[in-house]
Amino acid sequence: MDPRDLLTDLSRRLGAPAMDAALLGEGNTSVRDGDTMLVKASGAVLGDAEPGDFVRVDLAEALALISDDAAGDAEVAAVFDAVAAREGRRPSVEALLHVVLYEGTDARVIAHSHPTDVNALLCSQHSELLVAGGLFPDQLVVLGAHPLLVPYVDPGLKLARAVRDLLRAHIDRHGEAPGVVYLQNHGMFAIGSNPSQVLGMTAMAQKCARAIIGAQAVGGVRFMPEDEATRIVTRPDEQYRRALLAEGAR
Ligand SMILES: [Zn+2]
Repeated sequence: MDPRDLLTDLSRRLGAPAMDAALLGEGNTSVRDGDTMLVKASGAVLGDAEPGDFVRVDLAEALALISDDAAGDAEVAAVFDAVAAREGRRPSVEALLHVVLYEGTDARVIAHSHPTDVNALLCSQHSELLVAGGLFPDQLVVLGAHPLLVPYVDPGLKLARAVRDLLRAHIDRHGEAPGVVYLQNHGMFAIGSNPSQVLGMTAMAQKCARAIIGAQAVGGVRFMPEDEATRIVTRPDEQYRRALLAEGAR
């Protein structure tokens, strides 16, 4: 499928009211296309997305900006203005986060959203419960065993640099990239290889958040034993299911 059509369809599904994941201009989506990514333009509404709502960003150019310690808001504005001059619109302010996630993982598609129940936890005193262990087997199959939680950081260049550092430390520690990145007081990123997968991850994260909130209401979360959680992500039949999700089959 043409990347713009793929992204338009993904965005409309992510922004559909039933997903409860993005209102108005909230959230953004991207797809990797060679050395570039197509990402939502600033101000576009996911649920009403059209193929013209996405702009092409050169990944190496954006990474050079993120790596340049001397770069600040003015340099970001210059790069985004250059994209606008080429593409007609500026990229989302969160485009730099997509860039660092493409650099640090083998993602082909990324969906960023602010699901209400996920944000209930991310805005609470207990956001760490989202990454503290396995709740039930399907969570582990769909989201992986090691999601990443990022403290609140000012969106834009500063947040992109923070996520880049935390992502590298996470990969060193766990030997693999996270499937989901949670941002405190903000929202989540689902990192995957196709639209169905990242939509399913977003819905599963929402379900996990509801389960945690419900469990807290009846005495507190009890996580699966760690060896049982590890067993789920390593047993061959569940690895087969994970592979199907990554291929876009259900
Ligand atoms: Zn956001």
